[in-house]
Amino acid sequence: MDNRYFNPEFETMTRPQIERLQLERLQATVRHCMNSPFYKRRFAENGISPDDIKSLDDLKKIPFTTKADLRETYPFGIASVPLEKCVRLHSSSGTTGNPTVILHTQKDLDQWANAVARCLWMVGLRPGDVFQNSSGYGMFTGGLGFQYGAERLGMLTVPAAAGNTLRQLKFIKDFGTTALHAIPSYASRLFEVMQQEGIDPRRDTKLRTLVIGAEPHSEETRRRIEDMLGVKAYNSFGMSEMCGPGVAFECPEQNGLHIWEDYYIVEIVDPETLEPVPDGELGELVLTTINREAMPLLRYRTRDLTRILPGECPCGRHHIRLDRMQGRSDDMIILKGVNIFPIQIEKILMQFSELSSDYLITLDTLADNDAMTVDVEMKQMAVDDFRVLANLEKEITRRLHDEILVTPRVRLVSKGTLPQSEGKAVRVKDLRKKF
Ligand code: ADP
Ligand code: ZN
Repeated sequence: MDNRYFNPEFETMTRPQIERLQLERLQATVRHCMNSPFYKRRFAENGISPDDIKSLDDLKKIPFTTKADLRETYPFGIASVPLEKCVRLHSSSGTTGNPTVILHTQKDLDQWANAVARCLWMVGLRPGDVFQNSSGYGMFTGGLGFQYGAERLGMLTVPAAAGNTLRQLKFIKDFGTTALHAIPSYASRLFEVMQQEGIDPRRDTKLRTLVIGAEPHSEETRRRIEDMLGVKAYNSFGMSEMCGPGVAFECPEQNGLHIWEDYYIVEIVDPETLEPVPDGELGELVLTTINREAMPLLRYRTRDLTRILPGECPCGRHHIRLDRMQGRSDDMIILKGVNIFPIQIEKILMQFSELSSDYLITLDTLADNDAMTVDVEMKQMAVDDFRVLANLEKEITRRLHDEILVTPRVRLVSKGTLPQSEGKAVRVKDLRKKF
């Protein structure tokens, strides 16, 4: 058996095999969805029935499901099984109204653990590795999701959970942690604390694999994390609505994220017109779950923007590859009529070796005009040479202008100046007056 695959039968399927399986699973899912009061009504309102789904293309007959639908049916209205069959729920924070709830049966949790194990195996982790998870546990799916996946693979797991960096580092050293899951902003923080403590990750730890995800980050940030910690870092994408982590993951080629098409049907649509975008173009990721029991979602609009990458991957998996996420459609900054993603700014900043990984973009209204300020922390502040600093600010401003076509005000600040967040990093503060 080829040792590269956790689940060779599904991982190495050819395109025709994938598509045959998808149609079968889609038809079963749609029939099953008729147990959901929400989908039953949706189908009736749109005059469609499960029998109308005769090909994968017929998926387009089904209306989209949105986050608003999840909120309106809060908490259990989309479920396709009675509540007694469910064994867990996860819920998002709900900062903008009702939180969303995702229900799982035991079978769902099992499939989820298999998907995460498949991802971790894909990047070379094996029984014998020590896997430490610095995600928050609880409602956030990055905790339990990786926990069960890493156990399924057979690694010794260290459920360190979020925060307390000194303790995190002690675990890494004492337990011989070889693999760590962290959000990218935390991976950088960890390295800073290592430096303060005189820990050399290459000399003093056994870390060699990082799994980074949960927030948008650029290729530059990934390379930085790899160089700092002396590891390979793999991009991990997931979301609570689709279970959590394990949806799409990079293989050792690091050339985009394979999305598991035996679990999901992928569409990329124009977020305005909702029409499919031409192959390879940027658009909103729309996902249909095809092996979920408690709460399948049909054509779910994720709001994440990405594109399908062309070509075959040398790793032998034919599951399509997604480009790294640009961010969510609602993260997009519109400044002076120009559309900007924070990740574009990050990409430029990370090319300057003088800069640390912490930055904050502030949007403000100055004399009735929109303005952008980019505060970025220096690795070391050599305040004695103002001319050097001024030149650096100027150069960063110029490079940012080339990328985003507006001229931000750039301010270099010393380490520790910017506010730190416990979970996902907050990169944009919008203080603009709304006219
Ligand atoms: P919340 O919605 O509260 O942030 P989730 O954990 O469900 O909680 O977040 C999922 C979202 O996180 C995705 O929809 C996406 O926007 C973002 N995300 C997850 N993984 C990545 C990644 N590897 N790259 C970029 N964004 C990611
Ligand atoms: Zn691959």
